[in-house]
Amino acid sequence: MTAASPLADAIRDSAQLLVLSPHLDDAVLSCGALIADAAPRLPVTVVTLFTEAGPPPYTLSARRYLRQAGASDAQALYRERRDEDQAALESLGVGWAHAGLTEAQHRRRKMADGQGIWRAALLPELVHTYPVYRLHVTSGRLAPDDAGTLRAAIAFVRWLAGRRPALVLAPLAVGGHVDHVLARLAAQRSGKPLIYYSDFPYNQRHVPDAAFIRRHRLCEVRGPRPPQAKADLIRSYRTQASAMFPDGHVPLVPEVFYCRRTEEHGDGDH
Ligand SMILES: [Zn+2]
Repeated sequence: MTAASPLADAIRDSAQLLVLSPHLDDAVLSCGALIADAAPRLPVTVVTLFTEAGPPPYTLSARRYLRQAGASDAQALYRERRDEDQAALESLGVGWAHAGLTEAQHRRRKMADGQGIWRAALLPELVHTYPVYRLHVTSGRLAPDDAGTLRAAIAFVRWLAGRRPALVLAPLAVGGHVDHVLARLAAQRSGKPLIYYSDFPYNQRHVPDAAFIRRHRLCEVRGPRPPQAKADLIRSYRTQASAMFPDGHVPLVPEVFYCRRTEEHGDGDH
């Protein structure tokens, strides 16, 4: 990133940087190099929204994820994930905040008293808001049952951003994971100055939403190749790294950001 980039300017002019992370790893995966670079210059806090799992019975998709992570108990796994996140961020001298919201694969539909118990016993998918990973979790579409989750996320971001003027860095939601979409919406509705980051490693398989970029008049800012320290930092999220990068190799691709275009340079510009 050059010193003249709109992102560098925005960071220089801010009193604090809030990096909104849907899950316990996204901020470091997508902007670990930027966070490490900014930390000595201004207060940085990584705000993770979905930091809790739910109780069993789990959906087939949730059980598959647990198997990949080598765990059987989702709540124990999430405890470990919160510890990993805290240790990684503290090693950078960066603040952290966990909102305590439940991750998409574990969120449950609102049901009349008693109905959920027999349905969950019959088929856990019947009581979950997003029952199937490929069909629902990465659909990019929020379920109506998530209105309360969104309100809670907005309130948490506003509360943190209200303590001193903040620049918010939020996911662009490349790949369409509903938790990433929800984090993006929470950032938009917080009313704070906002820059988006491209979601790694989703952005290695998916393209960003061109209509969203056009509608919000965003321009792309590409960082330099991240240092090796970023790969080490990602690997320190041990429960996640082995499933995401099975051969142990973490590709060090440039971090990508999207800033709102502030001015148009026409022919008459001089
Ligand atoms: Zn995520």
